[in-house]
Amino acid sequence: MNELQRKDLQYIWHPCSQMKDYESFPPIVLERGEGAYLYDIEGKSYLDAVSSWWVNLFGHSNKRINKAIANQVEKLEHAIFANFTHKPAIDLAERMARLTPQGLNKVFFADNGSSAVEVALKLSFQYHQQMGKPEKTRFVAISEAYHGETLAALSVGDIDLYNEIYKPLLLNTFKAAGPNCYRCPYGETRETCTGNCIENMEQILSAHHEEITAVIIEPMVQGAAGMKIYPGIYLKKLRQLCDTYDIHLIADEIAVGFGRTGRMFACEHADISPDIMCLSKGLTAGYMPLSLVMMTDKIYGAFYDDYVNLRAFMHSHSYTGNPMGCAIACESLNIFEDEEVIEKNKITSRLIRERVTPLLNHPNVGEFRQLGMVGALELVKDKKSKEGFDWKQRVGYQIYQIALKHGVLLRPLGNVVYFMPPYVINENDIDLMIGTAEKAICEYLGK
Ligand code: PMP
Repeated sequence: MNELQRKDLQYIWHPCSQMKDYESFPPIVLERGEGAYLYDIEGKSYLDAVSSWWVNLFGHSNKRINKAIANQVEKLEHAIFANFTHKPAIDLAERMARLTPQGLNKVFFADNGSSAVEVALKLSFQYHQQMGKPEKTRFVAISEAYHGETLAALSVGDIDLYNEIYKPLLLNTFKAAGPNCYRCPYGETRETCTGNCIENMEQILSAHHEEITAVIIEPMVQGAAGMKIYPGIYLKKLRQLCDTYDIHLIADEIAVGFGRTGRMFACEHADISPDIMCLSKGLTAGYMPLSLVMMTDKIYGAFYDDYVNLRAFMHSHSYTGNPMGCAIACESLNIFEDEEVIEKNKITSRLIRERVTPLLNHPNVGEFRQLGMVGALELVKDKKSKEGFDWKQRVGYQIYQIALKHGVLLRPLGNVVYFMPPYVINENDIDLMIGTAEKAICEYLGK
């Protein structure tokens, strides 16, 4: 352990970590980043195959974005956003209203993904309070949902590892068994799917709609659940159900927005518009915390009144509408346009699929699922029964450590090894990424 690592462990508590693990596996001290790579203080490179927790789009230390920040910081670094505004926020809001699915015309700014989810939940609740339906107080999420770590966001999450201990503190939400395509209980495949599993949601909504204000969902890909990919038909049916029962549909596109799934927004795959959409992560191309909550005019209208009627949304975060974050987001949208990113990603996505294909013969690779720039290998103990490895074996963690040794930052979710690289990844990098995943899987599980 070097001096910096020793000091780090003396003072710092790292996220989502058992700190005791760091005794045998101390944190890697980074010095810089460039393109798809991170470099430690000894000069060793790590291919960032997970876009640093799914945030980075155009590589580390991207020249265009660096310049946009430099320009903005010379003008205005930050200012209070109540009663004040600035061009970067206005430009961003206007462009997002045009870019996002139809009807999402108003933007509320927050400063990270979880806070965007909190805003979305509060907005929906308050809307119904103010629209004469005060009994609508409960939220619905699907199994293995993940929407962040703050208490309301955890309440609509369904991953025990993150929320089990906090259950006494959480809101009383409904959980509907959601799509489980690899182990489909209806015996369908993603290709033959007609969205039968919506029946679980339908039962809850038809029985309890009077007390339900919103359904929240990660469209097309449930990230933290292990990049579980499901067909758009589920979202189409969900949209219809929400309309039938006067329930808001909140699309959490924090992880899947900005091209990750091959479309600018994942809702486009199902051709639906949610009532509320949460965006963060790729919004600032991986540079800074910022988030947006997009909503319909109808929702906005329910809060618009004389002050004394007390219908305003009294919510704020200190860094709301941060000008540097907004300037980065605008430059990121310029890059999407100038460099035809969505089109080019189709080629990258195909290369990843081609390169992964031989790995499907490995006895422990259950399936490879992919949508756009998200790809995931699910490792299983037994291919026939699809039985997974015991979580205590920490298969993902072992593979993570081996891959790091070989210079690739893969960070498996349980038994799922996934690829979610920055869009600037090239063919050689793809070879390194998949080749190393293969090496690590074989080194740990055998051929
Ligand atoms: N929703 C989804 C779908 C996410 O993937 C995440 C982060 N992984 C969040 C919400 C929370 O975002 P943040 O970490 O910025 O709070």
